[in-house]
Amino acid sequence: MPLIDGVAIAGKVLEETKARVAALAARGVQPGLAVVLVGEDPASRAYVRSKDKQAAALGFYSVKKELAADTTQAELLRIVEDLNRDAKVHGILVQSPPPPQIDEAAIIQAINPDKDVDGFHPTNVAKLALDDPTGFVPCTPLGCQRLLIESGIETTGRHVVIVGRSMIVGKPMALLLLRRGPGGDATVTIAHSRSRDLPAITRQADILIAAVGRPRFLGRDHVREGAVVIDVGINRVPDPSSPRGYKLVGDVDYENVASLTAAITPVPGGVGPMTIAMLLANTVTAAERALGLPTRDGALG
Ligand code: NDP
Repeated sequence: MPLIDGVAIAGKVLEETKARVAALAARGVQPGLAVVLVGEDPASRAYVRSKDKQAAALGFYSVKKELAADTTQAELLRIVEDLNRDAKVHGILVQSPPPPQIDEAAIIQAINPDKDVDGFHPTNVAKLALDDPTGFVPCTPLGCQRLLIESGIETTGRHVVIVGRSMIVGKPMALLLLRRGPGGDATVTIAHSRSRDLPAITRQADILIAAVGRPRFLGRDHVREGAVVIDVGINRVPDPSSPRGYKLVGDVDYENVASLTAAITPVPGGVGPMTIAMLLANTVTAAERALGLPTRDGALG
């Protein structure tokens, strides 16, 4: 059972991105990424720190705005509008989930779609659905697709079952896999909490993509022998033996499922590193487009 090494493949994407950053530097442009966090959620803080660190390491202009948990909608909107106007900032993301007083959909709509490197703005969602490559594709599904391509896993004509229908992972993943071309042309099924007899559906998968948000939810009953498994899940479970008191596990019961598979992503070290790599690639794309360069949305050029 070969492991799909997300750290190594993300490293390749980061090397490509570094070369694109150097090409922009030669034109006097530094890609700029602004990450906005509202509140104290520890997982979100860890993500934001990691994004800021990696952006800076790649030579980006990196802006990190950590706002108090009681920040109002109006205050957050003003910050987004300032970032929209800031020519040094090419990409903006507001870390999810925000506190309850924030209307997340309204905040996403306030981001200039040309700076929406998360690909959540309705304009970018529509462009993905319309096969228009001038938008931005959400980073996690883009990273999953890249893992498949780099691992030589054919998607053409294969049956991909995605468990989860979120706008962050499941739905954009399906749209990407339905596109024509490399990493696309798949037959796609999306399952969710109302699907009947989930194991019967997931056992049909040549490629099974788990984006459920429940630790070790998919077990041996869900996986056909020889399937490829991409585990998007990141769940904290208690682990007294770890100094942090918890460890990260996926949505797939890795210990019991791995031996059945043709290939599988580990958690951590699978999809997670790809998400950040794709975010940085999308930000470089935004900077290239600001210069008038015709960059496609897939980070593959
Ligand atoms: P959401 O909670 O938005 O969506 C979860 C989906 O799983 C929903 O569509 C839900 O169905 C479905 N689901 C829940 N329970 C069941 C069930 N019993 N049977 C079948 N389907 C079920 O989560 P996200 O899509 O945002 O994230 C999914 C996972 O991926 C999480 O673990 C998250 O931490 C992780 N993640 C990882 C990222 C990375 O970088 N690796 C990035 C983003 C997310 P319904 O719609 O019917 O409620």
